[in-house]
Amino acid sequence: MIRQLPIRQRIRKGIVLVSFLSFPLTMNFLSPYVIVDGAAHGIINGSLIMFGLMFLSALVLGRAWCGWVCPGAGMQEILEPVNIRPVSKNVDWIKWAIWIPWVTLIAWLAMRAGGYSRVDFLYLTETGVSVDAPVKYIIYYGVVLIFVGLAAFAGRRAGCHTICWMAPFMMIGRWIRNRFGWASLRLVADSSACSDCKLCNKHCSMSLNVSAMALAGNMENAECILCGACVDHCAKKVIRYSFSGSK
Ligand code: SF4
Ligand code: SF4
Ligand code: SF4
Repeated sequence: MIRQLPIRQRIRKGIVLVSFLSFPLTMNFLSPYVIVDGAAHGIINGSLIMFGLMFLSALVLGRAWCGWVCPGAGMQEILEPVNIRPVSKNVDWIKWAIWIPWVTLIAWLAMRAGGYSRVDFLYLTETGVSVDAPVKYIIYYGVVLIFVGLAAFAGRRAGCHTICWMAPFMMIGRWIRNRFGWASLRLVADSSACSDCKLCNKHCSMSLNVSAMALAGNMENAECILCGACVDHCAKKVIRYSFSGSK
C-alpha cells in the first residue's frame, strides 16, 4: 500500500518541484560563477543579491528557503524513491571547504576591481532567461547531474550536505539569530509526549536524529531546513513550528 504524504508535505514537494522545473529560468541568479564574474567587474549582480537575501531570510526564517523554495531541493527530492539512505553528518564540513575559498575569491576580486560600482540584476542574463545558449545548457545539465547523481548514489539530499555553496549563507544567518535569540521561525518539541518511535528520523529530509532532538527538547540543528516532515509525520504531535525567540 502506498502511504499518502501529509497535505502540507505534498504542497511543499509540489513547490520545490515547480522550482526545479523553473531552474532554466533562475539558474544564473543562484550561480556560484556569476557572482565571481560580477565581483571581477565590480558589479552587484543577481546572484549576489539572491545570496544576500538568503542570508537575511535566515535571520527570521531559518533555512526555510532550503525546505520550501530551493530548486536544488526539488532536483534531489525526486530521487528519494530511488535512494532514501541517510547521509552521514561526517560529510557536512565539505560545503565549508568549498564556501570559504570561494567567498575569499569573491572578496579579493571585488577589492581588485576597486569595489562594487554598479548594480545589474540581469548581469550575464540579458534575455532574462538563464539557459538561453548551448554553453548554458551544458552548465545547466552539469549542475543538475551533480545534484541528482549525489542524491542517487550518496543518499538523501547529499548535495545539500556536501557541495551546496548557498547553505553557509543561511547557516551563518541562523547562527547570528540564535546568538541574539530574537523571534524567528523554528521548531519546538514537547519531549514529554515523545514515545521515541523514531518515525521522524525516517522522514527527516536532512537525515537528522530528530527523535534525540525531540527527547532533549532542543530542535536546533544547523542542518535543519524547516521542511516540517517531522512535524507532519509525528502521530503524537510532539514537534511543531513556532515563531519565537530562543532562551
Ligand atoms: S542546501 Fe543548498 S541545494 Fe540544498 S536546499 Fe539549501 S540552498 Fe538548496
Ligand atoms: S515521531 Fe514523534 S513520537 Fe516518534 S520519536 Fe519522533 S517526535 Fe517522538
Ligand atoms: S528536523 Fe524536521 S524540519 Fe528539520 S530537516 Fe528534519 S524533518 Fe525537516
